[in-house]
Amino acid sequence: NADLAMYAAKERGRNTLAYFDGHMAETVRSRTELEKELRQALEREEFEVYFQPRVDVATNRIRAVEALVRWNHPRLGLVSPAYFIPACETMGLIGALGLWVLAQAAHQQVAWAAQGWDLVVSVNLSPRQFASSDLLHDITEVLRQTGVNPARMELEITESILLGEDQHVLNVLRELSALGLTIALDDFGTGYSNLAYLQRFPVHTLKIDKTFIQDTDANRSLAELIVSLSNLMKLTAVAEGVETQEQLDWVARRGIAQYQGYLYARPMPVRAFTNWLRNHPVG
Ligand code: C2E
Ligand code: MG
Ligand code: MG
Ligand code: MG
Repeated sequence: NADLAMYAAKERGRNTLAYFDGHMAETVRSRTELEKELRQALEREEFEVYFQPRVDVATNRIRAVEALVRWNHPRLGLVSPAYFIPACETMGLIGALGLWVLAQAAHQQVAWAAQGWDLVVSVNLSPRQFASSDLLHDITEVLRQTGVNPARMELEITESILLGEDQHVLNVLRELSALGLTIALDDFGTGYSNLAYLQRFPVHTLKIDKTFIQDTDANRSLAELIVSLSNLMKLTAVAEGVETQEQLDWVARRGIAQYQGYLYARPMPVRAFTNWLRNHPVG
């Protein structure tokens, strides 16, 4: 267990998560051990949803909030989702965890709306979750049980999902849109970016991956292409991973509508986030 500690970091006051090295993960922990711990974690409610704001570049007002799950390990502290999400996927636990996150996020949307902050809350969907035949039923149930306005919920999917069985994916996305939810393409530009996807599938938001925002000039010219594309397709472009004022200036010059990043705020636990909201402009 000392080994797993290498991947877990205490909050250290800034919600920082340990740098995670996938190679080391394989060497330290038997699959069954981890699987047992993850199942227990669900039952013992060791998971916690953090929230990070998404901000309008022009007005600096909060337009949306992303739900990001953490594992609050009893001994090791916060464990990064980069570590346990892939494990949950291969162990068949992602459906249960993903549904739990969605329910938490929807519940919070309703609670914030009651306090006058009618935020869009976005939730990440893993490819495995998306492929599940229960997905539409589960989402409908969460909407019904929480009474959340579906137009205030956004689902973040990755391009790899769009590579799947075309007609099935299209049907699911259409049904989700028909329920009133919006769809964001997460980490855009890092996958198999096929521009035809953007024509064929109902997608509303493009989250430009942080590598394009943070990196070199070469990457940035690709980012410019993505921005032109999102304007052309009338999608909302969001810059991910904005850490510096210089990056934000660049984002503003490119005409990217919204951004998310440590510069504005780090992901926060729900109580801290709610308190923080009192002093920040929403909508
Ligand atoms: P993502 O959906 O692309 O989420 C954005 C990630 O970037 C988050 O990492 C966030 O904390 C981080 N981030 C935000 N601003 C900055 C910044 O300025 N600089 C840097 N370097 N990073 C920034 P996090 O929370 O560790 O999550 C990692 C990934 O784990 C997420 O990437 C998402 O793919 C996955 N994930 C998180 N929660 C869930 C969940 O509930 N379900 C599923 N299926 N996946 C999740
Ligand atoms: Mg995301
Ligand atoms: Mg992303
Ligand atoms: Mg991601």
